[in-house]
Amino acid sequence: MPGFSTDAILLRKIEYGDHDFIISFLTRSHGKISVIAKNAKKSVRRFTGALDLFSVNQIHCVYPKKKKDGMTILFQADLEDGLGNIRYDVLKTTYASFWVELIHFWLEEEKPQLTLYDLLFFSLDALNTGSISKEVIHLLFMIRFMALSGFEPQIESCGRCKTPLDEIEQNRVMFDFREGRIICLNCAKGESKHGRMVSKGTLKQLFWINQNEVHRVDRIKFSGLAIKEGEALLESFIPFHLGREFKSLQFLKRLRQNNEF
Ligand SMILES: [Zn+2]
Repeated sequence: MPGFSTDAILLRKIEYGDHDFIISFLTRSHGKISVIAKNAKKSVRRFTGALDLFSVNQIHCVYPKKKKDGMTILFQADLEDGLGNIRYDVLKTTYASFWVELIHFWLEEEKPQLTLYDLLFFSLDALNTGSISKEVIHLLFMIRFMALSGFEPQIESCGRCKTPLDEIEQNRVMFDFREGRIICLNCAKGESKHGRMVSKGTLKQLFWINQNEVHRVDRIKFSGLAIKEGEALLESFIPFHLGREFKSLQFLKRLRQNNEF
């Protein structure tokens, strides 16, 4: 039976009939795929893990006999890392849910995206182990996701007069959502309908975590203000650009309001 094997992160799982699941994975070799896992609720031998959300598995898939007739079949899944700590923490679960929802929405099927796979794996692993603060990982994931999906925010210099960020006189600039870039206050002249004010320090830190090796990200210390501003900026910019609200992001905002996370 022709097919393939690859590492895969579970993005979404939907019950299908009494015994089966339809599962979406972000795979190392094939990008996002949707497969049917037949008898997955019963077969402990073929599916060693619980096929939980965010889990990392080595999967073996086979193509249906007549390709146009059916979905790719998940033949076997061996759990590599359940990333179980994420599920015991409601805030971590919500961050991870947003990341996978974003990927599931944005990615087309079967377009390999190794850099995105590595980014998601790194972010989930850091969230699971707690090696880096969850707020910083969240910022790192969002800004790099935007860069990989072609919407990298332009934050090095004013989009109009090209003054580098460091040389802009004011401490704050406007980030314009439509243009995806910063505009200094001399150029913005009060136009802020599609923008948000952000301090230069926050932008410099976002720029740093977007440009440097991901493993060095714990070297940078974000202030509480930079985290709040960075979250507010990216959590507005992403839905604006993709033209869609995300349930998990709305839930995250409610959690913060109610629990003061
Ligand atoms: Zn300017």
